[in-house]
Amino acid sequence: MRNVIIALLIFTLTACVNAPKPGQQGTVISESLKVCSGLRISNAPDTDNKKHLVDYSTKAQIVGVSLFRAPVNACVSSGYGPRRGGAGPFHRGVDLYTGNPTPIYAGGDGTVEDVKTMRGYGKTVTIRHNKKLITRYAHLSRYASGLRPGDQVVQGQYIGNTGETGNATAVHLHYEVWVNGKAKNPLTMGR
Ligand SMILES: [Zn+2]
Repeated sequence: MRNVIIALLIFTLTACVNAPKPGQQGTVISESLKVCSGLRISNAPDTDNKKHLVDYSTKAQIVGVSLFRAPVNACVSSGYGPRRGGAGPFHRGVDLYTGNPTPIYAGGDGTVEDVKTMRGYGKTVTIRHNKKLITRYAHLSRYASGLRPGDQVVQGQYIGNTGETGNATAVHLHYEVWVNGKAKNPLTMGR
C-alpha cells in the first residue's frame, strides 16, 4: 500500500512538472493580419482588397529582439497614430479586436516588469525585453495564473486573455512597443 502511495505521489509530481504552461505549446500566431470589417477604423494600415495588411510579417527585429507585430489572433480595429484626423489623442499602440476573451502571448523574450491595473489601461502586463525595449498589453480580462513581476517569459508564452477592462468599449488588446521611451508602430516597426 505504501508503495502504491509513493508511486502515485511521484506520478502526480512528475505530471505537474511536465505539464506545459499555457501557450508555451501550440502557440499559433496567424501568418497574416486583417483589418476588421464593418468598423470605422482610425489610422487604418494599408491593405489589399481582402483587407489583409500588405507586406505583413508576423515578427519584427527590434533593437536585437524578435517581436510579434500582433501577439494575439485578432483583427486590427485601430491603427497607430493621431485619431480623428489629428483632433483626438495620439494612439500609441495598435488595437487588436478579438470579440471573445482570447489568449495573448508575450511579444518576445523578456522579463515581466508589471502586472497591474493602470488608469485607462485596465489590467495591464508590461514586459521588458532589454534596456531599450518594453512591450505593454492592456485591457486584459485576466492574467495568466501566477504571472508576477520578475518572471522570465519567452516569445509566445501565454500571459493573459483579451478583455475590456479600463477605458475600452470592446474586447481587444491594446498593444504598445516602446524603444528608448518612444512608442513605435507595431505594424511597421523595423522596416
Ligand atoms: Zn488602443
